[in-house]
Amino acid sequence: MAAAEILEAIAAQVRVCTKCPLYLGTKNGVPGEGSPEAEVMFIGEGPGYHEDRQGRPFVGPAGAFLNELLASIGLDRSSVFITNVVKHRTPENRDPLPEEIDACADYLQRQIEAINPKVIVTLGRYSMAIFFPTAKISQIHGQAKVVGGRIVVAMYHPAAALHQQTLRQTVVEDFKRAIPAALSEARRLAAEGKLGQPEKKDDEPPPQQLTLF
Ligand code: URA
Repeated sequence: MAAAEILEAIAAQVRVCTKCPLYLGTKNGVPGEGSPEAEVMFIGEGPGYHEDRQGRPFVGPAGAFLNELLASIGLDRSSVFITNVVKHRTPENRDPLPEEIDACADYLQRQIEAINPKVIVTLGRYSMAIFFPTAKISQIHGQAKVVGGRIVVAMYHPAAALHQQTLRQTVVEDFKRAIPAALSEARRLAAEGKLGQPEKKDDEPPPQQLTLF
């Protein structure tokens, strides 16, 4: 099946998902959107109020900031893929619970496999923890690391940066410095056949983490 069809099938499942109670009290599931051929995939935490109303990721104030950040590096939403760790809004935007993250994990995993992005950008702690379970965002933000055959860059969440001027500057600088560099390095590694190995299975040792820059 082509990536677009797989993504559409996942989106259809997310829209009727009852795997955890989060769907109760929401208006829409928010599967994610963008190009099935995206080289760069952004993973946020979970839908907020505006995303729940529209069924689309990052369409509120954090989304406006993300659009600005994308524009600052010459990307737009249609050329990347944007999704979240959890696909339904949590009550009052509270942090997602481990069991909610687990219930949703398979959707995200299948989206990553279908798109096979060269670079994954995590936005905030919860998506960072999928790739770097013990890391502190203050220590690894803006660093490109090779994880499981892809380059992963952890960023502060745009919503947190909206309310703190210094964090905002950090996110702006991390974006401009790390993402274009990660993408060109990923293209170079891919051309040499050194990117894109299959995702790790549960019984395999943790993937090599190699900091690039
Ligand atoms: N914050 C997120 O983490 N995801 C969204 O989709 C919107 C805001």
